[in-house]
Amino acid sequence: MPIDSLLTLDRRSFIVAPLAAAVAATTGDAAATTGGTVYTGDVIHGKKVVSALDINDLEPGRKHLLYFQGVQAPTGHHWYVSVVVARGREPGKRITLTSGVHGDEMSSIRTVQMVMDELDPANMAGSVMAVLDIARPALEGMQRRWPNQGRGIDLVDMNREWPGNENGTTASSRHAGLLFNRLLRPNSDIAIDFHTGTTGLDCNDWIIGNRQIPEVKTMIDLYPIRQVWDSPAYPGVLHNAFIDAGIPSICPEVGAARILDLTLIAPFVEGTMNVLKHYGVIGGSIGRTAAESGAVTGNAIFPVLATEGGFIEHLVGLNEKVTAGQKVVVQRNAFGEVVAEYASAVDGEVGAIRSDASSEPGNILMFILFNHAPAKADGSYPE
Ligand SMILES: [Zn+2]
Repeated sequence: MPIDSLLTLDRRSFIVAPLAAAVAATTGDAAATTGGTVYTGDVIHGKKVVSALDINDLEPGRKHLLYFQGVQAPTGHHWYVSVVVARGREPGKRITLTSGVHGDEMSSIRTVQMVMDELDPANMAGSVMAVLDIARPALEGMQRRWPNQGRGIDLVDMNREWPGNENGTTASSRHAGLLFNRLLRPNSDIAIDFHTGTTGLDCNDWIIGNRQIPEVKTMIDLYPIRQVWDSPAYPGVLHNAFIDAGIPSICPEVGAARILDLTLIAPFVEGTMNVLKHYGVIGGSIGRTAAESGAVTGNAIFPVLATEGGFIEHLVGLNEKVTAGQKVVVQRNAFGEVVAEYASAVDGEVGAIRSDASSEPGNILMFILFNHAPAKADGSYPE
């Protein structure tokens, strides 16, 4: 470059030019723009590694076990994600089942595994793709959040990152972007993102989903579970990223974190098989549904928040009905003196309770599922 043209470059150009080159170098993978499956050439534990997938490239009538190449770890190795695709012989709906977005939610992973075990691709139309251990570094530590190596370790909730950004400023954001752009979105007509409660907060068998969306309502009603939170929930969660991409999606919560709860897994396996039958992916008659389990639906959750530090005792348990004004938690200091008593402000049903028996101020002690009065025409709520 001649000197005079260098002189015309402003400071910003010097910064942008090398950045652009770096971006090109890391996202130059042909799959990002052309579509199609890209095999990296690596084989791990006998499974081929892909950095992009098109299910149509896989042989029909069988199951395929693959690793998806996620973002790199600080040592330069990649975080590989386990993917199972059951591709039917006949064309049909493509259903995606995800788990492990939070690293301490074991029953969610087993639910997806058990559904996949029941499938025979030789007798299927369409496909079912399981993406099992999405937040690998969080799973390695049995913890909810992804340990980003930024300025020291930050623990990042990956379920506030979707749809991610392949050129984002955190590894977890890039990992989400790679998965969403190259694996999840291109291969999904319907998606179900399985979770559980989190460490320190137990929850019921329930499903989060926006019932205003007809296919979401249909799916929820196919699960023989006890509670439904009719809400889009939070921005940045995976099931909303699917919906934003035009892919109907729900978020089941399979009991408590860290443990394997086979009793609560069963209705979610049954409900997911119902969904596959509903969409014609597999044959067979529909099993038990939400109507038979008497699922309670609420459009809001009331959080009981600790105002003091101390040791807590719940006066009501999961699934119990409560009324406005009813005392639900008592908290004591180390002397055993009562420092706080907490009451519900709503008529509802207990959906989640803090399982750690102590709390600092600000923690959620209980979620109570209830029905908020409908908004008036001007968007306000009646008093
Ligand atoms: Zn979760």
